[in-house]
Amino acid sequence: MPGYCVCSITMMQSRGAVLKSFGAPLEIESFDVPDPEPGALLVQVAYGGICGTDVHLQAGHLPMPTPVILGHEAVGTVAALGREVTEDALGAPLAEGDRVTWASSIACGRCFYCRQERQPTLCENRRVYGISRSSDRWPHLFGSWGDLQYLEAGSTVVRLPGDVSMEAAIALGCAGPTVVHGLLGIAKPGVGDTVVVQGCGPVGLAAGMFARLSGAGRIVMVGGPPGRLELARSLGVADAYVDIFDITDPSTRVGVVTDQTPGSRGADIVVEATGVPSAVAEGLEMCRPNGTYLVLGQYTDHGPTPLNPHLITRKQLRVLGSWALSGADVVDFVVSLPQLSERFDLARLVSPYPLEAVNDALGAVQAGRVTKAVLTPAL
Ligand SMILES: [Zn+2]
Ligand SMILES: [Zn+2]
Repeated sequence: MPGYCVCSITMMQSRGAVLKSFGAPLEIESFDVPDPEPGALLVQVAYGGICGTDVHLQAGHLPMPTPVILGHEAVGTVAALGREVTEDALGAPLAEGDRVTWASSIACGRCFYCRQERQPTLCENRRVYGISRSSDRWPHLFGSWGDLQYLEAGSTVVRLPGDVSMEAAIALGCAGPTVVHGLLGIAKPGVGDTVVVQGCGPVGLAAGMFARLSGAGRIVMVGGPPGRLELARSLGVADAYVDIFDITDPSTRVGVVTDQTPGSRGADIVVEATGVPSAVAEGLEMCRPNGTYLVLGQYTDHGPTPLNPHLITRKQLRVLGSWALSGADVVDFVVSLPQLSERFDLARLVSPYPLEAVNDALGAVQAGRVTKAVLTPAL
């Protein structure tokens, strides 16, 4: 397709940060600006978030084609609407210039998991922006690390509530809807529950925040390094914090955490948000009998880990998994944003980088120097 101006778009070309081969630095390339087809739309990216998964994608730890414009979390403004696109996922009218966010994937609606199981995150034909669509294919702009992103027909697009800033909306990135899916949708905390969160990255922070909004009685966060834990503390995410760099012996940690729960029985729900396999054995120990363990953070396959299955039987535990997020989770997340951003200073999590600094930003995420790096094409 030729490059030309569409609607309010004045740029003829859109830059994108392209992963050409695994392990290699990303390169900034320019692409012709496509005209959105019926049902599709074009968005101007304000912030394209960098997620821990992107570090693994860049290294080639997950199956995907190349070349790809990375970026599966973002906020931006509507740049051009294709025919038939008149409203967002909540039925609100949609116009050029509206501030929006969107789901990273489109489920097929036809496979066994979509139709019979009603679990779109397990869809056998899931299309994921910034991961599964090569930039070699028209309309090229399938990732959020660029000036513009093309959203195909069937995308879940939601307008941001008027009182929520773009920075607050991107602060948790895909971690927010991931926690909506796993914690609220699958583990289902009850009012007054004691919730232990293992990990204080974006998923752990989001788990603490949503546990709070759900009426948890007590929240204990176990994580590190100390700077990240301090950020969680200053945001008021939990009631107690256990620093894994301070208490390095796992069995001592289990004792310290358990002592923070009512009657030292252990937690009603323990949420794993570490991505470290050995955290699972430790987390099972932190559950109270008849409690729930949610494995939420193991997005990359880091291999097996020893654990004691006797604990699961003897404590009669519910051990649950959760994969990815659906369009509905993104909608629920956006609906919760006014409450979430009123309670927590989300924008403090965000570290902006220019698009050209994409490799520095990825390095900072990998090293744990930042909580939420975001690429800002306008910088
Ligand atoms: Zn992600
Ligand atoms: Zn499907």
